[in-house]
Amino acid sequence: MEIKSALPQGVELTAVSKFHPAASIMEAYGAGQRAFGESRAQELQEKAAMLPDDIEWHFIGHLQTNKVRQVVAVADMIQSVDSMRLLKAVNDAAVKAGRCVDILLQVHVAREETKTGFLPEEMEQAALEALAMPGVRLRGVMGMASNTDDEERVRADFKAIRGCFDAIRLGAAAGQTCFDTVSMGMSHDRDIAIEQGSTMVRIGSDIFGER
Ligand SMILES: *Cc1c(COP(=O)(O)O)cnc(C)c1O
Repeated sequence: MEIKSALPQGVELTAVSKFHPAASIMEAYGAGQRAFGESRAQELQEKAAMLPDDIEWHFIGHLQTNKVRQVVAVADMIQSVDSMRLLKAVNDAAVKAGRCVDILLQVHVAREETKTGFLPEEMEQAALEALAMPGVRLRGVMGMASNTDDEERVRADFKAIRGCFDAIRLGAAAGQTCFDTVSMGMSHDRDIAIEQGSTMVRIGSDIFGER
C-alpha cells in the first residue's frame, strides 16, 4: 500500500476499517496490511469471525463496560482505554478469559469537550495501576489532536501526547521494553503527528475513502 510505504521507518499503520465492508479489508489484506482498527464492538466481532485469523484487530472507539467481554475476546490491542473503570473492566474480562490484552491509555489533550480520555496529570497513576494488572500489557498511549485548521494547536496537542508517553516511559514504565507505542495521527493530521514523534498512525478515509 502506498500510504504504508510512505511512512518513515518506526511508524506503524493501523488501517481504520470501521463502517467499511469486509471486502475492503480483504483488499488491503491482499496488499499486505495486517493491523485493522474498529470502533464498535459488534462490528469488530462480526468482521473478526469472517476474516483471516492473522489479522491484528485494534479497538479504537469509546468502549462501554458492558461490551468489554465481547471486545477482549477478539481484540489484539485496545487503544482507547479512557478511564480507570474501563481499565479495571478490561483487566477483569481478560483474566476471566485467560488472556492478556495489549492496551494503550487514551489521553485527552484536545480542546473539544466531547473527547474522552485521562487528563495528562492522571496518566502516571493510570499507568502504575495498569502495570500491576495481570490481564493487560501496557504498550503506550493514544491520543487525538483538536479538530481545527490551526496547525500550531494541532502540533501542541501532539507534543503534549508524546510528552505524556515520555514521562511514563521514564517514570512508571521505566525499564518496560514493551512500552513503545505512541498512537497519534489520522488521515488529515498524520504528517504533524509523525513530526512530533508518533509511532503508529490510524488512517481510515485516506485508505478506504470517505464513509
Ligand atoms: C475514525 C478514526 C480514525 C481514522 O480517521 P480518518 O480521518 O478516517 O483517517 C482514527 N482514530 C480514531 C479514534 C477514529 O475513530
